Amino acid sequence: MTSLRALVQTSKAILLDFDGPVCRLFSAVPAPGIAQKIRSFLLERSVSVPEPMMTEGDPLVLLRWTGDAAPHLLAEVERIQAVSEKEAAELAEPTSGAAEVIRSSAAQGRPVAIVTNNSAEAVETYLDRHDLAASIAGISARIQGRPDLMKPDAHLVFKGAEMTGQSASACVLIGDSPTDMQAAKKAGAHCVGYAKRKARISELSDAGADSVVQSMESVADIVTRLRR
Ligand SMILES: [Mg+2]
Repeated sequence: MTSLRALVQTSKAILLDFDGPVCRLFSAVPAPGIAQKIRSFLLERSVSVPEPMMTEGDPLVLLRWTGDAAPHLLAEVERIQAVSEKEAAELAEPTSGAAEVIRSSAAQGRPVAIVTNNSAEAVETYLDRHDLAASIAGISARIQGRPDLMKPDAHLVFKGAEMTGQSASACVLIGDSPTDMQAAKKAGAHCVGYAKRKARISELSDAGADSVVQSMESVADIVTRLRR
């Protein structure tokens, strides 16, 4: 494991996963309810939904599955998801320390981009609400019609890095899912796992995290102290 301080210090840009490191996107509009909405839509359209998908609580897993199993309905499922994510973003609870990471890093000339499997509109909604839009170099979000390019694919990481004007290998990505670590590794970026719960620590390090933190406040402490 590399120290968080060394990772931040040697990175020319920071890539932040959205749900988790920036906010609890589904704090007020729970994800399983959205998954249920998507499932009901698929069942109404006579799609035969297999057992694991019948109990799946992550709507993005259902969206990805639709892309493979019922591609003719993907656009509508994406619409349900995007509308729900926007509603969720209106009410999402901020992750403490995140705004400070974003503002301090941007102020130091270390640009920050969001790299997310959620929709760009949800991110914009959240950033506007919290007056953070001006501190963000770009939003690399889920691409309509291409659920296959979501993380763990490297595509969104490359795109986010490009938005900061840096190569992926000069960036550090902070994310709370194993798929964030996998995507960062594939792109050649450094990655820090944000493990809010202790159980996540080993999952994230097993997925390749260069370092794991338990709060975004500890990232904020480091970034703030690097201020010139
Ligand atoms: Mg996340």
